[in-house]
Amino acid sequence: MEDSYRHKGLRKQLAQHLKDKGISDKEVLKAVEKIPRHLFLNNAFVEFAYQDKAFQIGEGQTISQPYTVAFQTELLEVKKGEKILEVGTGSGYQTSVLLEMGAKVFTIERQKNLYDRAKLLLPKLGYSPRFFYGDGYKGLPAFAPFDKILVTAGAELIPSDLVDQLKINGMLIIPVGGLNDTYLMKRLKKSKNNDIQIVNYGEFRFVPLLEEKEWGKS
Ligand code: SAM
Repeated sequence: MEDSYRHKGLRKQLAQHLKDKGISDKEVLKAVEKIPRHLFLNNAFVEFAYQDKAFQIGEGQTISQPYTVAFQTELLEVKKGEKILEVGTGSGYQTSVLLEMGAKVFTIERQKNLYDRAKLLLPKLGYSPRFFYGDGYKGLPAFAPFDKILVTAGAELIPSDLVDQLKINGMLIIPVGGLNDTYLMKRLKKSKNNDIQIVNYGEFRFVPLLEEKEWGKS
């Protein structure tokens, strides 16, 4: 688990690149600069870990592009101590960004191998979220409500269970759509009287968020 000066230098460049692309939340940029992304990748891609690209992580899934991670995290307006549900643990990189920013993270993954791998890796790097293996489409009712919910896979529709599990003044960031793997990033805010406000933030590519009944698909 080597983290060399070269890796640190490449991370600094990646954070600068994200800043140049418009990411302005200093805490997000600090987290990118600190977290050794190369340790979340399969050996074949380690050389490219600090490029602004998504990579395969096995089971047909991907570690999101750093810009997408930074964009979603910035939209989430993370504050220390907030209770955040992440749907789609994947490699655990996004989970680590949220933890680095001081959130309490509950993360759920439907692919057993990815769940097992992240559960082993993150504590070695000093990150301790609550890990769950299961269907994030339904959220985690036993641990709700959450201040914020972040979905890192593309959904066909906004799952109503996730909206129900948000606190008043909470927000949900979720890519929705799915035409040619392209999704519209949405930020949903829930206010008093359960009023819902949704704003769109441009198109991104994602792997699909699958409901339990579709799990045979991948
Ligand atoms: N946050 C991840 C990271 O930093 O590596 C990126 C994850 S990848 C783009 C999306 C993940 O969502 C995949 O690992 C996939 O298995 C998971 N996923 C898809 N549908 C899911 C569901 N219904 N419940 C939980 N996880 C799901």
